Amino acid sequence: MPEAYNTSKNGSVPKPVLLIVLDGIRPDVLRAAIRDGDAPALGFLAERGEAVWDGVSVFPSITPAATAAIATGEPPAESGILGHAWYDREEGRVVVYGAMRETVISTGPVKVFHNNVWRMNRDDLTAPTLFEKLDERGIDGACVNFPVRRGPHEHPVRARSVHRYKRLANRSELLGASVDGPKEYYMGDLFYSRDTGLHGRTGVGGLRRSVGINDAYAAGVGAMLLAEKAAPFTLVYFFKGDSITHHKGLAAQRRHVTTLDQYVEDMFDAAGGPEKMLEDYAVLALSDHGHTPLLPNRRRFVRLGRILGEGASAGSRVSFGPGLEIVVVPNGRSALLYFEEGVEREKVVTNVLSRRGVDLAAWREDGWGVVRRLGRELKFRPADTVGDGPRDAAGRAWEFSGDPRALEIEVSDGGIGYGEYPDALERLWGCLRSPRCGDVVLSATPGYTFGEVSGNFHEQSDHGSLHASDSNVFVLASGISVPHRLTDVVPILLDHFGAGAETAVAETGRKA
Ligand SMILES: [Zn+2]
Repeated sequence: MPEAYNTSKNGSVPKPVLLIVLDGIRPDVLRAAIRDGDAPALGFLAERGEAVWDGVSVFPSITPAATAAIATGEPPAESGILGHAWYDREEGRVVVYGAMRETVISTGPVKVFHNNVWRMNRDDLTAPTLFEKLDERGIDGACVNFPVRRGPHEHPVRARSVHRYKRLANRSELLGASVDGPKEYYMGDLFYSRDTGLHGRTGVGGLRRSVGINDAYAAGVGAMLLAEKAAPFTLVYFFKGDSITHHKGLAAQRRHVTTLDQYVEDMFDAAGGPEKMLEDYAVLALSDHGHTPLLPNRRRFVRLGRILGEGASAGSRVSFGPGLEIVVVPNGRSALLYFEEGVEREKVVTNVLSRRGVDLAAWREDGWGVVRRLGRELKFRPADTVGDGPRDAAGRAWEFSGDPRALEIEVSDGGIGYGEYPDALERLWGCLRSPRCGDVVLSATPGYTFGEVSGNFHEQSDHGSLHASDSNVFVLASGISVPHRLTDVVPILLDHFGAGAETAVAETGRKA
């Protein structure tokens, strides 16, 4: 272990931390699996530690935005990562990080690969990551498959398949020779700090599969890192549960939890068994967002490009120009709308809100967030600088104007109570402040989806909205404080590793 790791505020050594992220697993699904005895390892963690079943994701509740929030401690407005896709006004193009196969194909596989592996972490991510912050404190990190992983160490591309693609596509400028990551970084055949003997799986089905990125690999490398106690901080990511749920629904997710639990058990066993694991390590396990079942017919797809009519277009290759004044970027059950100057927001909002499947619209106006739903409108902003107001569960005061029922908010005894839109003010505010989110953001009614930039949409289930079913996550924690928001993970980890001491010094300095 690095020398600096042995220093902390009390002189005692904080336990190393394992952070497990299970993409898209709903709290109620995991809870049922634990109750039925189908998830013994995660059940052990919940029983020995603390469990939160109503934690909250960010908005949009979609993987790139949510994983960026986990890795940086910042909402999308500060992390810079809004969703699977957004429109870059400066470059005049839609940036796609990858999603459905059709979306990847319509955008161009090499470009998506570039965006996902290089551009997102290097160019678009506007906040420091946990790996960078821990490195400043002399603490090394290890990362397996997690998409947001920028760090201080350079990792060369290992996969021959990428070099082959570079030649084939003649797009070598898009695929760099290396990326920056934590000390130990593993992502299939693409990047590996050391030869684990676990890579080298070739497969069919596109670049992602051909570079060996899969959950069994993640569990194998995770087990190796834990057995070696390789790093004070280890992050292991499992993505398959999300895609299974998109294609096959929540019943399939429920079955898949058993597989995920086996991976967790394998990692615990590598560390000497569950008891020893929790003795030696602090463990955090959480999901990044939830999932909402879709209606069984094609009406589940809200085709925004068509609804907004002439002058509007949704697609991976659209940009403003003659005849095009609205760019629509669907992100599953949320959508980002970008306007050319002169577009009347009111007209657009009235139109989309009259359509089946569009639950709410939100935008930024003169320093306020505005949300409209069911004919009710609420303006809101943090009251941090302008005085007092009712407070949310995290203690932040908010100023309102309009009808709080637009967000099912109830105010009693100076406290804010949420209904179907958990932590709605903080989450909307964490999105709307970013110019990258566009001029209006939409959230879909349960059962519906806006699909993706390719015009395709998922079969069984989707996410991205402000609604609780997409937004609630589970968090299990042992040996470390339990976060309620994804953005709480970083401060809790920094505190665990002794950043609290440095913060105290900084605050003392400021007062003096
Ligand atoms: Zn998903």
